[in-house]
Amino acid sequence: MEDMLKGALSHLDGAAKYTKVHPEVLEKLQYPKEVMSARLFVRMDDGSRRSFRAWRCRYDDTRGPTKGGIRFHPEATQDEVVTLAFWMTFKCAVAGVPFGGGKGAIRVDPRKLSKTELERLSRAYVQAFAQMIGPERDIPAPDVYTNAMIMGWMADEYSSLVDYPCPGVITGKPIALGGSKGRDDATSRGGFYVLKHLQKELGLDNGSERRAVVQGYGNAGYHFACLLHEDGWKVVGISDSRGGVYDPEGLDPKAVKACKEEKGEVSKYAEGRDNVEVVDNDALLCKSCELLVPAALEDQITESIAKCLDARVILELANGPVTADGNAVLERRGITVVPDILANAGGVTVSYFEWVQNRQGFYWTESEVRQRLKQIIQEEAMHVWSLSKQKEISLRTAAYVHGLERLSEAIEAHGTQT
Ligand code: GLU
Repeated sequence: MEDMLKGALSHLDGAAKYTKVHPEVLEKLQYPKEVMSARLFVRMDDGSRRSFRAWRCRYDDTRGPTKGGIRFHPEATQDEVVTLAFWMTFKCAVAGVPFGGGKGAIRVDPRKLSKTELERLSRAYVQAFAQMIGPERDIPAPDVYTNAMIMGWMADEYSSLVDYPCPGVITGKPIALGGSKGRDDATSRGGFYVLKHLQKELGLDNGSERRAVVQGYGNAGYHFACLLHEDGWKVVGISDSRGGVYDPEGLDPKAVKACKEEKGEVSKYAEGRDNVEVVDNDALLCKSCELLVPAALEDQITESIAKCLDARVILELANGPVTADGNAVLERRGITVVPDILANAGGVTVSYFEWVQNRQGFYWTESEVRQRLKQIIQEEAMHVWSLSKQKEISLRTAAYVHGLERLSEAIEAHGTQT
Protein backbone atom coordinates (compact mmCIF):
# COMPACT_ATOMS: atom_id res chain seq x y z
CA MET A 1 0.00 0.00 0.00
CA GLU A 2 1.16 3.51 -0.78
CA ASP A 3 2.56 5.68 2.01
CA MET A 4 0.09 8.51 2.05
CA LEU A 5 -2.97 6.28 2.22
CA LYS A 6 -1.27 4.25 4.94
CA GLY A 7 -0.86 7.42 7.03
CA ALA A 8 -4.52 8.31 6.52
CA LEU A 9 -5.69 4.82 7.43
CA SER A 10 -3.85 5.05 10.74
CA HIS A 11 -6.54 7.49 11.91
CA LEU A 12 -9.20 4.97 10.98
CA ASP A 13 -7.50 2.27 13.04
CA GLY A 14 -7.19 4.75 15.90
CA ALA A 15 -10.92 5.46 15.79
CA ALA A 16 -11.96 1.81 15.47
CA LYS A 17 -10.80 1.21 19.05
CA TYR A 18 -13.49 3.55 20.38
CA THR A 19 -16.57 2.23 18.65
CA LYS A 20 -18.05 -1.14 17.84
CA VAL A 21 -17.64 -1.86 14.15
CA HIS A 22 -17.56 -5.16 12.34
CA PRO A 23 -14.06 -6.08 11.08
CA GLU A 24 -15.55 -6.42 7.58
CA VAL A 25 -16.51 -2.76 7.65
CA LEU A 26 -12.93 -1.82 8.43
CA GLU A 27 -11.69 -4.17 5.71
CA LYS A 28 -13.99 -2.51 3.16
CA LEU A 29 -12.75 0.95 4.09
CA GLN A 30 -9.08 -0.02 3.57
CA TYR A 31 -9.31 -0.01 -0.23
CA PRO A 32 -10.71 2.25 -2.95
CA LYS A 33 -13.66 0.89 -4.89
CA GLU A 34 -12.43 2.18 -8.23
CA VAL A 35 -9.36 4.09 -9.48
CA MET A 36 -8.83 5.06 -13.07
CA SER A 37 -5.84 6.74 -14.65
CA ALA A 38 -5.66 8.29 -18.10
CA ARG A 39 -3.29 10.23 -20.28
CA LEU A 40 -4.79 13.40 -21.69
CA PHE A 41 -3.49 14.67 -25.05
CA VAL A 42 -4.02 18.38 -25.45
CA ARG A 43 -3.28 20.78 -28.30
CA MET A 44 -1.23 23.78 -27.13
CA ASP A 45 -1.67 27.27 -28.56
CA ASP A 46 1.55 26.95 -30.57
CA GLY A 47 0.17 23.90 -32.40
CA SER A 48 2.22 21.32 -30.48
CA ARG A 49 0.58 18.51 -28.52
CA ARG A 50 1.34 17.74 -24.89
CA SER A 51 0.22 14.91 -22.70
CA PHE A 52 -0.77 14.96 -19.02
CA ARG A 53 -1.41 12.25 -16.47
CA ALA A 54 -4.81 12.28 -14.83
CA TRP A 55 -6.73 10.24 -12.27
CA ARG A 56 -10.15 9.82 -10.76
CA CYS A 57 -10.90 7.68 -7.73
CA ARG A 58 -14.26 6.61 -6.32
CA TYR A 59 -13.26 5.45 -2.87
CA ASP A 60 -16.56 4.34 -1.35
CA ASP A 61 -20.14 4.87 -2.50
CA THR A 62 -22.07 3.16 0.26
CA ARG A 63 -23.66 6.40 1.46
CA GLY A 64 -24.40 7.81 -2.01
CA PRO A 65 -22.75 8.93 -5.25
CA THR A 66 -19.06 9.67 -4.78
CA LYS A 67 -18.17 13.32 -4.36
CA GLY A 68 -14.94 15.27 -4.37
CA GLY A 69 -12.86 17.86 -6.15
CA ILE A 70 -10.43 17.76 -9.05
CA ARG A 71 -7.04 19.34 -8.43
CA PHE A 72 -4.57 20.59 -10.99
CA HIS A 73 -1.10 20.34 -9.51
CA PRO A 74 2.40 19.63 -10.87
CA GLU A 75 3.07 17.08 -8.12
CA ALA A 76 -0.26 15.25 -8.10
CA THR A 77 0.04 11.46 -7.76
CA GLN A 78 -2.34 8.53 -7.72
CA ASP A 79 -1.60 7.82 -4.06
CA GLU A 80 -2.56 11.41 -3.23
CA VAL A 81 -5.81 11.17 -5.22
CA VAL A 82 -6.81 7.94 -3.48
CA THR A 83 -5.98 9.37 -0.06
CA LEU A 84 -7.95 12.54 -0.76
CA ALA A 85 -10.88 10.35 -1.86
CA PHE A 86 -10.61 8.43 1.41
CA TRP A 87 -10.79 11.72 3.32
CA MET A 88 -13.82 12.78 1.27
CA THR A 89 -15.54 9.53 2.28
CA PHE A 90 -15.17 10.44 5.94
CA LYS A 91 -15.85 14.13 5.42
CA CYS A 92 -19.21 13.43 3.76
CA ALA A 93 -20.06 11.02 6.57
CA VAL A 94 -19.14 13.55 9.28
CA ALA A 95 -21.17 16.28 7.56
CA GLY A 96 -24.04 13.82 7.13
CA VAL A 97 -24.42 14.62 3.41
CA PRO A 98 -25.63 11.63 1.35
CA PHE A 99 -22.43 11.13 -0.62
CA GLY A 100 -19.51 8.77 -0.73
CA GLY A 101 -15.95 9.97 -1.32
CA GLY A 102 -14.15 10.62 -4.59
CA LYS A 103 -11.33 12.75 -5.95
CA GLY A 104 -9.49 13.53 -9.14
CA ALA A 105 -6.36 15.26 -10.36
CA ILE A 106 -4.33 16.27 -13.36
CA ARG A 107 -0.55 16.48 -13.02
CA VAL A 108 -0.01 19.97 -14.42
CA ASP A 109 1.05 23.44 -13.36
CA PRO A 110 -2.02 25.37 -14.55
CA ARG A 111 -0.23 28.69 -14.01
CA LYS A 112 1.91 27.83 -17.04
CA LEU A 113 -1.02 27.30 -19.42
CA SER A 114 -3.01 29.91 -21.32
CA LYS A 115 -6.74 30.16 -20.75
CA THR A 116 -7.55 28.33 -23.98
CA GLU A 117 -5.07 25.54 -23.17
CA LEU A 118 -6.61 25.22 -19.74
CA GLU A 119 -10.06 24.94 -21.28
CA ARG A 120 -8.94 22.19 -23.69
CA LEU A 121 -7.28 20.33 -20.81
CA SER A 122 -10.42 20.57 -18.65
CA ARG A 123 -12.60 19.28 -21.47
CA ALA A 124 -10.13 16.46 -22.18
CA TYR A 125 -10.44 15.37 -18.54
CA VAL A 126 -14.21 15.05 -18.83
CA GLN A 127 -13.93 13.12 -22.10
CA ALA A 128 -11.49 10.68 -20.50
CA PHE A 129 -13.56 10.11 -17.36
CA ALA A 130 -17.09 10.49 -18.80
CA GLN A 131 -17.97 6.88 -17.99
CA MET A 132 -16.94 7.28 -14.39
CA ILE A 133 -18.59 10.56 -13.48
CA GLY A 134 -22.29 11.44 -13.61
CA PRO A 135 -24.92 13.20 -11.50
CA GLU A 136 -25.98 9.93 -9.85
CA ARG A 137 -22.56 8.30 -9.84
CA ASP A 138 -19.61 10.60 -9.16
CA ILE A 139 -19.79 14.37 -8.88
CA PRO A 140 -16.59 16.44 -9.12
CA ALA A 141 -16.01 19.95 -7.74
CA PRO A 142 -13.16 22.47 -7.43
CA ASP A 143 -10.03 21.78 -5.42
CA VAL A 144 -6.44 23.12 -5.42
CA TYR A 145 -5.86 25.37 -8.50
CA THR A 146 -9.28 24.71 -10.01
CA ASN A 147 -12.23 27.11 -9.86
CA ALA A 148 -15.76 27.91 -11.01
CA MET A 149 -14.66 28.74 -14.56
CA ILE A 150 -13.08 25.28 -14.94
CA MET A 151 -16.16 23.60 -13.43
CA GLY A 152 -18.30 25.50 -15.96
CA TRP A 153 -16.25 24.15 -18.89
CA MET A 154 -16.40 20.65 -17.46
CA ALA A 155 -20.19 20.74 -16.95
CA ASP A 156 -20.56 22.07 -20.48
CA GLU A 157 -18.40 19.28 -21.90
CA TYR A 158 -20.35 16.61 -20.04
CA SER A 159 -23.65 18.11 -21.16
CA SER A 160 -22.48 17.99 -24.81
CA LEU A 161 -21.43 14.37 -24.42
CA VAL A 162 -24.77 13.23 -22.99
CA ASP A 163 -26.64 15.66 -25.21
CA TYR A 164 -28.77 17.39 -22.58
CA PRO A 165 -28.00 20.13 -20.02
CA CYS A 166 -26.71 18.30 -16.97
CA PRO A 167 -25.65 20.82 -14.31
CA GLY A 168 -25.85 18.21 -11.51
CA VAL A 169 -22.75 16.39 -12.77
CA ILE A 170 -20.44 18.89 -11.13
CA THR A 171 -20.60 21.47 -8.35
CA GLY A 172 -18.82 24.75 -7.74
CA LYS A 173 -20.01 26.03 -11.13
CA PRO A 174 -20.52 29.69 -12.02
CA ILE A 175 -23.91 30.89 -10.78
CA ALA A 176 -24.95 31.55 -14.40
CA LEU A 177 -24.59 27.82 -15.14
CA GLY A 178 -26.48 26.54 -12.11
CA GLY A 179 -23.92 27.17 -9.39
CA SER A 180 -25.13 27.81 -5.86
CA LYS A 181 -25.00 31.13 -4.12
CA GLY A 182 -22.56 30.90 -1.22
CA ARG A 183 -20.48 28.04 -2.70
CA ASP A 184 -17.49 30.29 -3.28
CA ASP A 185 -16.65 30.96 0.37
CA ALA A 186 -18.40 27.85 1.77
CA THR A 187 -15.24 26.00 2.85
CA SER A 188 -14.07 28.98 4.88
CA ARG A 189 -17.49 29.83 6.21
CA GLY A 190 -17.98 26.25 7.41
CA GLY A 191 -14.60 26.37 9.20
CA PHE A 192 -15.53 29.71 10.69
CA TYR A 193 -18.86 28.36 11.99
CA VAL A 194 -16.99 25.49 13.66
CA LEU A 195 -14.61 27.98 15.27
CA LYS A 196 -17.37 30.30 16.47
CA HIS A 197 -19.53 27.49 17.79
CA LEU A 198 -16.68 25.93 19.76
CA GLN A 199 -14.82 29.12 20.65
CA LYS A 200 -15.52 28.89 24.37
CA GLU A 201 -14.51 25.22 24.49
CA LEU A 202 -11.36 26.02 22.52
CA GLY A 203 -10.49 28.94 24.80
CA LEU A 204 -10.72 31.40 21.91
CA ASP A 205 -13.70 33.56 22.80
CA ASN A 206 -13.84 37.30 22.37
CA GLY A 207 -12.16 38.04 25.70
CA SER A 208 -8.89 36.24 24.86
CA GLU A 209 -6.07 37.48 22.69
CA ARG A 210 -6.86 36.38 19.14
CA ARG A 211 -3.95 36.25 16.71
CA ALA A 212 -4.16 34.01 13.64
CA VAL A 213 -1.72 32.75 11.02
CA VAL A 214 -3.10 31.54 7.68
CA GLN A 215 -0.94 29.34 5.44
CA GLY A 216 -2.17 29.25 1.83
CA TYR A 217 -3.98 32.06 0.08
CA GLY A 218 -6.24 30.36 -2.42
CA ASN A 219 -10.01 30.31 -2.12
CA ALA A 220 -10.06 28.78 1.38
CA GLY A 221 -7.24 30.79 3.01
CA TYR A 222 -8.32 34.12 1.60
CA HIS A 223 -11.98 33.91 2.60
CA PHE A 224 -11.08 32.54 6.02
CA ALA A 225 -8.64 35.41 6.69
CA CYS A 226 -11.40 37.89 5.75
CA LEU A 227 -13.92 36.23 8.09
CA LEU A 228 -11.42 36.32 10.97
CA HIS A 229 -10.53 39.94 10.28
CA GLU A 230 -14.23 40.97 10.22
CA ASP A 231 -14.69 39.16 13.52
CA GLY A 232 -11.97 41.20 15.20
CA TRP A 233 -9.08 38.75 14.96
CA LYS A 234 -5.57 39.97 14.21
CA VAL A 235 -4.37 38.05 11.16
CA VAL A 236 -0.64 38.34 11.88
CA GLY A 237 0.69 35.98 9.19
CA ILE A 238 -0.34 35.03 5.64
CA SER A 239 1.51 32.99 3.03
CA ASP A 240 1.15 31.38 -0.38
CA SER A 241 3.30 28.70 -2.03
CA ARG A 242 6.14 31.17 -2.61
CA GLY A 243 6.44 32.55 0.94
CA GLY A 244 4.66 34.82 3.34
CA VAL A 245 4.43 37.98 5.40
CA TYR A 246 4.18 38.61 9.12
CA ASP A 247 3.06 41.68 11.03
CA PRO A 248 2.47 41.44 14.80
CA GLU A 249 0.04 44.36 14.51
CA GLY A 250 -2.16 42.46 12.03
CA LEU A 251 -2.45 42.41 8.24
CA ASP A 252 -5.33 43.57 6.06
CA PRO A 253 -6.42 40.37 4.22
CA LYS A 254 -8.02 42.23 1.29
CA ALA A 255 -4.93 44.38 0.73
CA VAL A 256 -2.72 41.27 0.80
CA LYS A 257 -4.99 39.63 -1.78
CA ALA A 258 -4.87 42.72 -4.00
CA CYS A 259 -1.07 42.60 -3.83
CA LYS A 260 -1.01 38.90 -4.72
CA GLU A 261 -3.22 39.57 -7.72
CA GLU A 262 -1.16 42.50 -8.87
CA LYS A 263 2.37 41.26 -8.17
CA GLY A 264 1.89 37.48 -8.23
CA GLU A 265 2.85 36.65 -4.64
CA VAL A 266 1.91 37.42 -1.06
CA SER A 267 5.48 38.20 0.10
CA LYS A 268 5.62 41.29 -2.17
CA TYR A 269 3.21 42.86 0.32
CA ALA A 270 6.24 43.66 2.49
CA GLU A 271 7.68 45.99 -0.18
CA GLY A 272 7.69 49.52 1.22
CA ARG A 273 6.18 48.43 4.54
CA ASP A 274 8.77 48.52 7.34
CA ASN A 275 6.60 46.77 9.93
CA VAL A 276 5.95 43.77 7.65
CA GLU A 277 8.48 40.93 7.74
CA VAL A 278 8.99 38.46 4.86
CA VAL A 279 9.01 34.86 6.13
CA ASP A 280 9.26 31.47 4.49
CA ASN A 281 6.49 28.93 4.97
CA ASP A 282 8.19 26.94 7.74
CA ALA A 283 9.00 30.08 9.74
CA LEU A 284 5.44 31.30 9.30
CA LEU A 285 4.04 28.06 10.76
CA CYS A 286 6.18 28.56 13.86
CA LYS A 287 5.12 32.15 14.62
CA SER A 288 3.39 32.70 17.93
CA CYS A 289 -0.42 32.84 17.57
CA GLU A 290 -3.60 31.52 19.14
CA LEU A 291 -4.94 30.00 15.91
CA LEU A 292 -2.95 28.41 13.09
CA VAL A 293 -4.88 27.73 9.90
CA PRO A 294 -3.16 25.53 7.31
CA ALA A 295 -5.14 26.17 4.12
CA ALA A 296 -2.73 24.91 1.46
CA LEU A 297 -1.61 21.35 0.77
CA GLU A 298 -1.22 18.17 2.80
CA ASP A 299 1.84 17.22 4.89
CA GLN A 300 2.84 20.76 5.90
CA ILE A 301 3.02 20.22 9.66
CA THR A 302 5.67 17.56 9.97
CA GLU A 303 7.18 16.22 13.17
CA SER A 304 9.83 18.96 13.31
CA ILE A 305 7.35 21.78 12.61
CA ALA A 306 4.95 20.30 15.18
CA LYS A 307 7.74 20.52 17.75
CA CYS A 308 8.45 24.19 17.11
CA LEU A 309 5.06 25.69 16.37
CA ASP A 310 3.58 28.08 18.90
CA ALA A 311 -0.21 27.99 18.47
CA ARG A 312 -2.96 27.01 20.88
CA VAL A 313 -5.36 25.65 18.26
CA ILE A 314 -4.87 24.39 14.70
CA LEU A 315 -7.87 24.48 12.38
CA GLU A 316 -7.27 22.35 9.28
CA LEU A 317 -8.82 24.12 6.32
CA ALA A 318 -6.56 22.13 3.98
CA ASN A 319 -6.96 18.38 3.56
CA GLY A 320 -4.38 16.41 5.53
CA PRO A 321 -2.01 19.29 6.44
CA VAL A 322 -0.60 17.44 9.49
CA THR A 323 1.48 14.29 8.97
CA ALA A 324 0.85 11.25 11.19
CA ASP A 325 4.16 11.93 13.04
CA GLY A 326 3.31 15.60 13.37
CA ASN A 327 -0.07 14.68 14.78
CA ALA A 328 1.49 12.53 17.49
CA VAL A 329 3.69 15.45 18.59
CA LEU A 330 0.73 17.84 18.68
CA GLU A 331 -1.26 15.40 20.80
CA ARG A 332 1.66 15.06 23.20
CA ARG A 333 2.01 18.82 23.42
CA GLY A 334 -1.71 19.26 24.11
CA ILE A 335 -2.30 21.44 21.05
CA THR A 336 -5.92 21.14 19.92
CA VAL A 337 -6.44 20.25 16.28
CA VAL A 338 -9.83 20.83 14.66
CA PRO A 339 -9.55 18.14 11.97
CA ASP A 340 -9.99 18.64 8.23
CA ILE A 341 -12.93 16.26 7.87
CA LEU A 342 -14.91 18.59 10.13
CA ALA A 343 -13.19 21.96 9.67
CA ASN A 344 -13.37 22.07 5.87
CA ALA A 345 -16.62 20.18 5.37
CA GLY A 346 -18.46 23.43 4.53
CA GLY A 347 -17.32 23.16 0.91
CA VAL A 348 -18.84 19.78 0.23
CA THR A 349 -21.93 20.65 2.26
CA VAL A 350 -22.74 23.59 -0.01
CA SER A 351 -21.81 21.39 -2.99
CA TYR A 352 -24.57 19.10 -1.77
CA PHE A 353 -26.94 22.08 -1.69
CA GLU A 354 -25.90 22.95 -5.24
CA TRP A 355 -26.61 19.41 -6.43
CA VAL A 356 -29.99 19.45 -4.70
CA GLN A 357 -30.87 22.79 -6.32
CA ASN A 358 -29.81 21.48 -9.76
CA ARG A 359 -32.02 18.44 -9.37
CA GLN A 360 -34.96 20.50 -8.14
CA GLY A 361 -34.42 23.31 -10.62
CA PHE A 362 -35.25 25.59 -7.72
CA TYR A 363 -32.62 27.97 -6.41
CA TRP A 364 -32.04 29.25 -2.89
CA THR A 365 -31.02 32.67 -1.63
CA GLU A 366 -27.58 33.21 -0.15
CA SER A 367 -29.00 33.59 3.33
CA GLU A 368 -30.87 30.26 3.01
CA VAL A 369 -27.62 28.57 1.98
CA ARG A 370 -25.72 30.09 4.88
CA GLN A 371 -28.37 29.30 7.41
CA ARG A 372 -28.60 25.65 6.36
CA LEU A 373 -24.82 25.35 6.32
CA LYS A 374 -24.58 26.85 9.78
CA GLN A 375 -27.15 24.49 11.19
CA ILE A 376 -25.44 21.37 9.85
CA ILE A 377 -21.93 22.43 10.77
CA GLN A 378 -22.83 23.51 14.31
CA GLU A 379 -24.64 20.29 14.99
CA GLU A 380 -21.83 18.07 13.71
CA ALA A 381 -19.15 20.16 15.43
CA MET A 382 -20.91 19.85 18.77
CA HIS A 383 -21.38 16.13 18.27
CA VAL A 384 -17.66 15.68 17.57
CA TRP A 385 -16.77 17.84 20.57
CA SER A 386 -19.04 15.84 22.91
CA LEU A 387 -17.68 12.54 21.61
CA SER A 388 -14.15 13.71 22.29
CA LYS A 389 -15.03 14.69 25.87
CA GLN A 390 -17.07 11.56 26.50
CA LYS A 391 -14.42 9.16 25.25
CA GLU A 392 -11.41 11.30 26.23
CA ILE A 393 -10.02 11.31 22.71
CA SER A 394 -8.74 13.98 20.34
CA LEU A 395 -11.15 15.86 18.09
CA ARG A 396 -9.62 14.05 15.13
CA THR A 397 -10.25 10.62 16.58
CA ALA A 398 -13.74 11.74 17.59
CA ALA A 399 -14.49 12.94 14.05
CA TYR A 400 -13.33 9.58 12.67
CA VAL A 401 -15.47 7.75 15.22
CA HIS A 402 -18.47 9.83 14.15
CA GLY A 403 -17.83 9.22 10.44
CA LEU A 404 -17.11 5.55 11.00
CA GLU A 405 -20.35 5.04 12.88
CA ARG A 406 -22.34 6.53 10.00
CA LEU A 407 -20.40 4.54 7.40
CA SER A 408 -20.67 1.34 9.35
CA GLU A 409 -24.42 1.73 9.72
CA ALA A 410 -24.77 2.21 5.96
CA ILE A 411 -22.44 -0.67 5.09
CA GLU A 412 -24.31 -3.01 7.43
CA ALA A 413 -27.70 -1.83 6.12
CA HIS A 414 -26.69 -2.74 2.57
CA GLY A 415 -26.78 -6.39 3.58
CA THR A 416 -24.68 -9.11 2.09
CA GLN A 417 -24.30 -7.85 -1.46
CA THR A 418 -21.76 -5.07 -0.83
N1 GLU B 1 -12.45 20.02 -2.85
C1 GLU B 1 -13.29 20.28 -1.74
C2 GLU B 1 -12.93 19.38 -0.58
O1 GLU B 1 -11.84 18.86 -0.51
C3 GLU B 1 -14.77 20.26 -2.09
C4 GLU B 1 -15.30 18.96 -2.57
C5 GLU B 1 -16.72 19.04 -3.10
O2 GLU B 1 -17.34 20.07 -2.97
O3 GLU B 1 -17.17 18.04 -3.64
O4 GLU B 1 -13.68 19.24 0.35
